Amino acid sequence: MFGKSKRLWPRAPMKTAYDAVIIGGGLHGLATAYFLARDHGITDVAVIEKNYIGFGGAGRNTAIVRANQRTQENVPLYKEALDLWPVLTKELDFNLMFYNCGNLNLAHGEATLKAMRLNVATAQFHGVKSQLVDPKECKELVPALDISDRPRYPVFGGMYHPPGGIVRHDAVVWGLAKGAAKRGVHIHQGTEVAGIGTSQGKVVSVETDRGKIHTPRVLNAAGGYAAALSHAFLRQRLPISVLTIQAMVTQPLKPLLDHVVSSGTYHCYGNQTLKGEIATGAHMDPWPNYTTDTTAYYIKHQAEALTEMLPCLKGVKFMRHWAGLADMTPDMAPIMDGNDPIEGYYVDCGWGYFGFKSSTVTGKYMAQFMAKGECPDILKPFQLKRFQEHRLMGETAALVNYSPDN
Ligand SMILES: Cc1cc2nc3c(=O)[nH]c(=O)nc-3n(C[C@H](O)[C@H](O)[C@H](O)COP(=O)(O)OP(=O)(O)OC[C@H]3O[C@@H](n4cnc5c(N)ncnc54)[C@H](O)[C@@H]3O)c2cc1C
Repeated sequence: MFGKSKRLWPRAPMKTAYDAVIIGGGLHGLATAYFLARDHGITDVAVIEKNYIGFGGAGRNTAIVRANQRTQENVPLYKEALDLWPVLTKELDFNLMFYNCGNLNLAHGEATLKAMRLNVATAQFHGVKSQLVDPKECKELVPALDISDRPRYPVFGGMYHPPGGIVRHDAVVWGLAKGAAKRGVHIHQGTEVAGIGTSQGKVVSVETDRGKIHTPRVLNAAGGYAAALSHAFLRQRLPISVLTIQAMVTQPLKPLLDHVVSSGTYHCYGNQTLKGEIATGAHMDPWPNYTTDTTAYYIKHQAEALTEMLPCLKGVKFMRHWAGLADMTPDMAPIMDGNDPIEGYYVDCGWGYFGFKSSTVTGKYMAQFMAKGECPDILKPFQLKRFQEHRLMGETAALVNYSPDN
């Protein structure tokens, strides 16, 4: 006998006015709604999602989390995010399945090791565990790794980040939705935002396909669609290119990989899931695309790259293959901003392929921004004006050298 199953979040009636409206039921939208309610008592909030929650990158990512980004501005944000997973698992009463198995980034040349040295120093300065390792130590961490001279790019060493790992991405979506709804937030799925109304330089409403909502605050957290919406609704141009990013999983295998392993040179990363599948991803497709189409080219690339690094995977079958959108800025760092030039309009986008690991902490600070109207210090480096002022961040440099993930 099964009991009547309880919905994780109740269906709510659509009201004609809310204190805040969030566009996008992805990781960032739901996290911001949760923290608006938890930290600021702002519970009269609507999350408007045109498909279903987790439809975007939230449900398509490869679930990798870590804190060893490159720049001084980014590391503290990602460190706090990493520390939040166990806290939120308890608080949301929802198992987010955080597995801090550690991340190993491989270096295949001196230039990459040099870039890694800078990363390790920045991480250690901020109290994040990260260290350089030699090929033998790489092999001890990942016994299946080929550290011989056979591969096209032999292993020179690596950067090991013990506290990183994997979190179950759909559990994060459902846990945040449950937590936000419990505090009074309304989640409207299957509802599309079609416009934003302004008057005298201030946000006053949001148009949806289910009617108009009056509100003084709107957060655009529409992921890969955020830049197009900002331009269509408010003629605000965001420096974002939208590229496809693909991922796939193999058939389930016996345990052989208990770290996240990645190589920027091969443009390939992978980890073994609890089901035994190797979940693997690569860099973005190299051309702006705006579709979630997958390609045969990617399958070939991924098979070659994976088996160069982990030859025991030869002959293993890929089972599923999917794609999502990566909203990438020129410096590969996100845009978090608000009240400029329109009061009450906030943006949290440009996360490319890093927006899972940072989502909860970003929600916390975007909620503070929306509640108090003042940009929190930790978010200031990510404001839009950095592009006008030619103050781009250095995240790109490190990524190009060694880290395609994740
Ligand atoms: C294949 C792949 C692998 C990745 N791997 C990783 C990883 O390992 N680690 C990591 O940190 N990040 C990873 N990412 C990136 C991460 O998934 C994204 O950065 C993250 O999901 C962004 O979250 P978001 O909330 O901003 O957007 P999304 O999760 O994309 O949510 C945006 C939502 O807005 C909705 N929406 C759009 N337009 C409208 C509208 N007009 N009205 C209402 N709703 C609308 C969409 O339907 C969508 O649900 C990966 C991404 C992909 C695609």
